[in-house]
Amino acid sequence: MPEPDSSVLARRTDIIAAMRAIVPASGAVIAEEDALRPYECDGLMAYRQLPMIVVLPENTAQIAAILKYCHQNKIRVVPRGAGTGLSGGALPMADAITISMMKFNRVLDIDWDNRACVVQPGVTNLGITRAVEHRDFYYAPDPSSQIACSIGGNIAENSGGVHCLKYGLTTNNVLGLEMVTIEGDILRIGGKALDSAGYDLMGIITGSEGLLGIVTEITVRILRKPETARAMLLGFPDNQAGGDCVAKIIANGIIPGGLEMMDAPAIRATEDFVHAGYPLDVESLLLVELDGPAIEVDHLIERVGDIAHQCGAVYSRISETEEERALFWSGRKNAFPAIGRMSPDYICMDGTIPRGRLSDVLTGMQVFSQRHGLRVANVFHAGDGNLHPLIMFDANQPGELERAEAFGADILKLCVEVGGCLSGEHGIGIEKRDLMPEMFSEDDMKHQERLKLAFDEDQLLNPGKVFPVLHGCGELKTLHARSVANKFPDIPRF
Ligand SMILES: Cc1cc2nc3c(=O)[nH]c(=O)nc-3n(C[C@H](O)[C@H](O)[C@H](O)COP(=O)(O)OP(=O)(O)OC[C@H]3O[C@@H](n4cnc5c(N)ncnc54)[C@H](O)[C@@H]3O)c2cc1C
Repeated sequence: MPEPDSSVLARRTDIIAAMRAIVPASGAVIAEEDALRPYECDGLMAYRQLPMIVVLPENTAQIAAILKYCHQNKIRVVPRGAGTGLSGGALPMADAITISMMKFNRVLDIDWDNRACVVQPGVTNLGITRAVEHRDFYYAPDPSSQIACSIGGNIAENSGGVHCLKYGLTTNNVLGLEMVTIEGDILRIGGKALDSAGYDLMGIITGSEGLLGIVTEITVRILRKPETARAMLLGFPDNQAGGDCVAKIIANGIIPGGLEMMDAPAIRATEDFVHAGYPLDVESLLLVELDGPAIEVDHLIERVGDIAHQCGAVYSRISETEEERALFWSGRKNAFPAIGRMSPDYICMDGTIPRGRLSDVLTGMQVFSQRHGLRVANVFHAGDGNLHPLIMFDANQPGELERAEAFGADILKLCVEVGGCLSGEHGIGIEKRDLMPEMFSEDDMKHQERLKLAFDEDQLLNPGKVFPVLHGCGELKTLHARSVANKFPDIPRF
């Protein structure tokens, strides 16, 4: 991470006083070590750092005033939602203010006619569905962390979930945003309509990992619940057959509501934990959900069953009741904690590959597993080609964390090599920051950096994230001016 700025740390008492003047509510400025401790990491718990202070504002005007102050006084800022991120995006900095969005927790408006819901960023993902389900609506993107993660964090990471194959990721379900810039300006982008005039700023902000501004209000699309949804469990003797079945389902023009895959270690760990009724004698399990009018669902279940049979399925079971469908899903949704029971620590990787390369990448992972001497279990959003290898290790054993990280890096490099990318939904954060050059050329990176600088010239918003850290120490800023782009020729670049 960038070195803490000692001149900022020397002003800590003044900064605390300034924050208390802007956000006077009791307990809204946290400065004591014990109370700062819960903010020291996000879901990437291998990395921890106490923030300088934490502030919990409750309205947009306060955020604007905080950011204006930070801009004028050159103080770094780390936005934070629920802290469930898995790539270290909300990791604090010793000289930065962590701004927690947890008091922005209200649903502001439900516009049934326009099928839109306006919420504050601290509302949980599931909270949106809870607010509209009494009229048979729901919010489609459904990260497994949806009970806890905030919609603001979902925007920042462009989060996905099991239903995103058919209904799109966060970016496909956001209609409008309010965002405060580091200068304290309040921008309103989009609205309740499907498109808006001007540059597609929403496309830039969604997935920007807290580097461009702080999102303070969000308008999302809500959908009518499908008339019927049924889930199928399909078991295969090997991963190749399961992967082929995924590719064939899509190639036949069927887009399931969800199309997930688990390998043998994941199936066994999950069944042991949740008792979802998963078969234990298969090497690869598909969970396929078909939704829509009942007559269409029945037809598609038959077609998917035929395709699975052609691909060599050795197990098939179809949910007969809503409870059974929920039980099938509860296994998949609890796969991460299930792996957590098998190993003191695990890292959840996130990469994307073309669907057709699934079995190559799984074979590669077995080679890496032996090379690094660590176990791996796999759950995937198979329809999207989004992999989640869970690498198991014990942080108390010297060198195991480093081996787990090297294993993860090998997997991500392989994803890029086969035509995929570094992240499907968890973002880059600090976790994959140094792998960015595997994916982007120097020119690509420069253009992304220029975009960052257009919003935040002094790099005060969430520094040390996304861009390789060499760029955090002043070099990045020089790229803003083309005439000095070749400064520091002696520093090795990617
Ligand atoms: C068990 C488990 C399962 C998960 N499953 C999934 C899954 O299926 N799919 C998936 O996509 N992810 C998943 N995740 C990852 C995580 O839940 C998502 O990335 C989520 O969107 C993070 O939301 P958060 O509120 O916790 O954000 P945080 O972790 O607090 O922050 C994430 C990033 O967002 C930025 N940020 C937060 N709020 C704002 C704001 N208002 N304005 C600007 N920037 C902001 C932060 O600076 C940070 O960079 C899972 C995590 C866990 C622990």
